[in-house]
Amino acid sequence: MAESKSSPVFDAQKVTVIYVLGGPGAGNVIGKGTQCSKLVDAFGFCHLSAGDLLREEQNRDGSQYGELIRTCIREGTIVPSHVTIKLLENAMTEEVKKRTGDGWTDGRGRFLIDGFPRKLDQAVGFDETVCLASLVIFFDTTEDVMLERLLERAKTSGREDDNVETIRKRFRTYNEQTMPVIEYYKTLDKVAEIDSTVSVEQVYRVASATVSKLFS
Ligand code: UDP
Ligand code: MG
Repeated sequence: MAESKSSPVFDAQKVTVIYVLGGPGAGNVIGKGTQCSKLVDAFGFCHLSAGDLLREEQNRDGSQYGELIRTCIREGTIVPSHVTIKLLENAMTEEVKKRTGDGWTDGRGRFLIDGFPRKLDQAVGFDETVCLASLVIFFDTTEDVMLERLLERAKTSGREDDNVETIRKRFRTYNEQTMPVIEYYKTLDKVAEIDSTVSVEQVYRVASATVSKLFS
């Protein structure tokens, strides 16, 4: 029997997806959060943070995944792929429906998907069923820098996973599960690796030049 493989929900010719990855804590102060918001301003992206969507779902009344998400986040492990992929797909569908303007007409859209995919099955699953990603921006830094930023954030974040013990587990998850994702996309020549130990401006110059090429 012929295997029929259904195509992704969004056509990558119309919808640009950029995954944004960096180690745990790379999102803080001078890290990827700042870079994402600058890219949003410059290119009209919709910024979706997988972690934020998961925390929202965790706190949603009546969610069947609340407990599961809470446990994974506390343990620094990855929430099962189908949950995160569905949350992203729903958020994208809503955005494409309601948004207008540059880059957003006739079913077009541009998304920065932050903190995702953290594991190979998420990457393949999303690419195949939701939208084939165009690029992976990888903000590279050292574990020492990440730890320092995370402990700084812990003072005000109120996040249950910003403690040394969970941070260690998050580093392990990152090295064991997320690094293979980067390697996979490197073989497809889709990774822009950006050293994020330098200043915000320097990082942004490289990041925006990389993104510009996609839209030229
Ligand atoms: N997480 C997940 N799948 C994802 C993104 C996040 O399971 O695709 C979970 C995972 O437990 C992770 C936590 O959410 O440790 C926090 O992720 P977030 O990106 O918010 O934190 P960051 O690592 O950027 O500080
Ligand atoms: Mg994050």
